[in-house]
Amino acid sequence: MTVTLKEKRELNNFLDLLAFSTVKRFYPTAAMNYTQVTSLEDTYDYFLDLVESGELSIVWEVKCTSEKIICARKLDDAQSKEMLLNKEVACDICGHEFTVSSNDLFPAFEISTEYREIVREDKKKTSNRLKINRHFAKV
Ligand SMILES: [Zn+2]
Repeated sequence: MTVTLKEKRELNNFLDLLAFSTVKRFYPTAAMNYTQVTSLEDTYDYFLDLVESGELSIVWEVKCTSEKIICARKLDDAQSKEMLLNKEVACDICGHEFTVSSNDLFPAFEISTEYREIVREDKKKTSNRLKINRHFAKV
């Protein structure tokens, strides 16, 4: 399954908004809350495509996955899974110590600097165009 054209547009709008915000990192679930997209897998796949094409970069976060209590504290992160797997970590909140496995890794995404600049540049052009239109409307 892939995202539909409508969903793609919504996700892109979400990314545009983020590009203007101070948000550095976001989760696929945040995109789903903002849009009508209902499949986490599709959202994730679409963002992976954008990583390939340079709009986004992926960051893997190690979350505390203690089964006794719901902790979910972020303990570490890296650009690749390999840098984190089999690492020994300890949680400073709940004291849980464990060896990182793929189950403890959660993907987050960041908008690339280049894409952020392009989006911002685009917006400037749009507002200039509006100004121009208004100018001509007066004449
Ligand atoms: Zn913990």
